[in-house]
Amino acid sequence: MGSVLCEHCTGHCCRYLALPIDRPTGKRDFDDMRWYLAHENVLIFVEDGDWYIQFTTPCRHLGADNRCAIYDERPAICREYSTSGCEYQSGEYDYDHLFTEPEQLAVFAKEFLRRKRARARRRRERQRPAARSTAPRRTVVPLRIPTGVAI
Ligand code: SF4
Ligand code: SF4
Repeated sequence: MGSVLCEHCTGHCCRYLALPIDRPTGKRDFDDMRWYLAHENVLIFVEDGDWYIQFTTPCRHLGADNRCAIYDERPAICREYSTSGCEYQSGEYDYDHLFTEPEQLAVFAKEFLRRKRARARRRRERQRPAARSTAPRRTVVPLRIPTGVAI
């Protein structure tokens, strides 16, 4: 929050924290996420294929003037953050997916699990040995020529 740009911003980047979470792979993972979203001010988003949980809650060091009250001692993660591509510049974030309600996640999970089952089914079908043909085998019977017969 040190650049000129930050002077025009109400401290968007200091009003939430987002942590990476494991990519869901099954029903139980989505059920856990449903629990996350049951809490107020919690959302889940996907960015570049990576999943995050976000808690929309302001930092206790953000002053009424929207400036950091501990600027010189702020944590490393705040020091590493820059205005390049920050919330103030980019406006609406370009998420792959954004879930703010359990119902949105349920729709996504249903389709995700359906596709997963279809992939598993195709894989099983590919691995299954090809069915044996029941058609009678055609064999070539060698022609026997009796000895002494001129051909
Ligand atoms: S969102 Fe961007 S402009 Fe606003 S305080 Fe954070 S770094 Fe500065
Ligand atoms: S410590 Fe300061 S810079 Fe970091 S999130 Fe809090 S208010 Fe913002």
